[in-house]
Amino acid sequence: MAHYRDLLAQIDALLRPTLGEGRVADYIPELAKVAPDQFGMAIATPDGEVETVGQAATPFSVQSISKLFALVLAIQTEGDDLWARVGREPSGAPFNALVQLDAEKGHPRNPFINAGALVVSDVLCSHYAVPENAVAQFLSRLDGRRLIHFDERVARSERNHCGRNAAMLHLMQSYGNIRNPVDQVLGAYCRQCAIEMTCEELARAVTFLACGGRDPRTGEQILPAAHAKRVNALMLTCGTYDAAGDFAFRIGLPVKSGVGGGIVAVMPNRCGVCVWSPALDRAGNSQAGARALELLTTHTGWTIF
Ligand code: GLU
Repeated sequence: MAHYRDLLAQIDALLRPTLGEGRVADYIPELAKVAPDQFGMAIATPDGEVETVGQAATPFSVQSISKLFALVLAIQTEGDDLWARVGREPSGAPFNALVQLDAEKGHPRNPFINAGALVVSDVLCSHYAVPENAVAQFLSRLDGRRLIHFDERVARSERNHCGRNAAMLHLMQSYGNIRNPVDQVLGAYCRQCAIEMTCEELARAVTFLACGGRDPRTGEQILPAAHAKRVNALMLTCGTYDAAGDFAFRIGLPVKSGVGGGIVAVMPNRCGVCVWSPALDRAGNSQAGARALELLTTHTGWTIF
């Protein structure tokens, strides 16, 4: 772990002068209030150790990172049947695009664009008694330390500015790909996006994806290894909006980002990683976060390629 500690300190020193470059997300008004020049990073190994730097213990809005955990829950309940309702291709379009969804008859390209994540939420609504808590409960099980909580102001702000998500749900409902009331699905989706977690917690929470789907803390097989491999493949090809090609090129790891400025990454057989810095690049990914991951894989040579 001393090796990771030195590495994180070097990354922090290199990035400090650049923090704040980019723009915080402002289409959800509450997110626009976050100070852009914050930075934290954590590496969690299967033996339970976590090495951190910067503001790795500061909670932030996980936003689209929640789509990863919602997907895992949906695969647990539906298995391969899920793929009849959601695709596995990069979209080549913005995360909340409507035109492509209509052209493709309400069948979202992948589970990490909003339309796909809304279908996943619909699946959770069909399976869980309190679907808006399903992802948070799963995360607190994975983290094993505390009850996950929601940023209620972000949840309200998001619910009041969710016109495009509502439009996508109605569109997909018209094609028969949404089975529960639009309002219920929207409620569950907005709430999972407003979950707050720290880099330390998220790094621990993705470690099972570095261990063939097995939670190294409890020994529980969260997903069969074959499904965990597929989730990692989707993170690589679709996890960073319309910049997944650039991320594969620069970083070479399965990753999932969110507009709150967080990015989780999986180093297979080694560790889970989370980095957070709220200022985003034009594709909506954390600018310093992407750079930090690039430095990490460049220094260590640990990529999947
Ligand atoms: N809650 C956001 C939305 O649905 C998630 C965006 C994101 O992180 O990509 O618009």
